[in-house]
Amino acid sequence: MTGERIVVIEDEPDILELLQFNLEREGFGVVTAANGSDGLSVVQREKPDLVLLDLLLPGVDGLDVCRHLRAKPETADIPIIMVTAKGEESDVVLGLGVGADDYLQKPFSPRELIARIRAVLRRRGSDSPDPSVERIERGAVVIEPDRHRVTVDGEKRTFTPTEFRLLKFLASYPGRVFTRDQLVSKAIGEQAVVIDRNIDVHIRSVRQKLEPYRELIETVRGVGYTFRDEASDD
Ligand code: CA
Repeated sequence: MTGERIVVIEDEPDILELLQFNLEREGFGVVTAANGSDGLSVVQREKPDLVLLDLLLPGVDGLDVCRHLRAKPETADIPIIMVTAKGEESDVVLGLGVGADDYLQKPFSPRELIARIRAVLRRRGSDSPDPSVERIERGAVVIEPDRHRVTVDGEKRTFTPTEFRLLKFLASYPGRVFTRDQLVSKAIGEQAVVIDRNIDVHIRSVRQKLEPYRELIETVRGVGYTFRDEASDD
């Protein structure tokens, strides 16, 4: 039994029941809500360890629920997994843009559901990266922000400032998916003039410099990029 509590906000009774069944079987405590406004009050009251949030809800939709939760200090840090319809990649981009931690596309298997939840809980448990961190080690890749230095298998590689910021940012949040917009605003910031599509060019270059570990940076089709989470089994 994990004892962690999850609020599930989903308007389709069959799916809600299935989610509740699978989560409880894994030892999670589950509280459900069938629409957005009930969902908001349940989350405020329960302060759960995670929220599973359907995007398409009657009344207050999933994006608005996510925005409201993020805007309130007492719920701003609760991990949210957005549940979207299959193939609606623009929905995924919107969901991540309003602060969802991850997403799950319908239909999903119970195994995938549990794996995603565990990955998000683990990431939250290990806390946000310390900006003053001296060393980020991801397998053979070692990043030393202070010295602006990257080594691959012990061998020094040269990165441009933009490439370095991208790599450092992605490697700081393994397993978390970022949209191109988020990478521009969060990783690169105001210092660099980078438009959306140029991100792809920078990422390509970062990957080349990570050889033979280029696959550490994964493309999430239609959404963005993620740094491979070695601890995750999904
Ligand atoms: Ca729905």
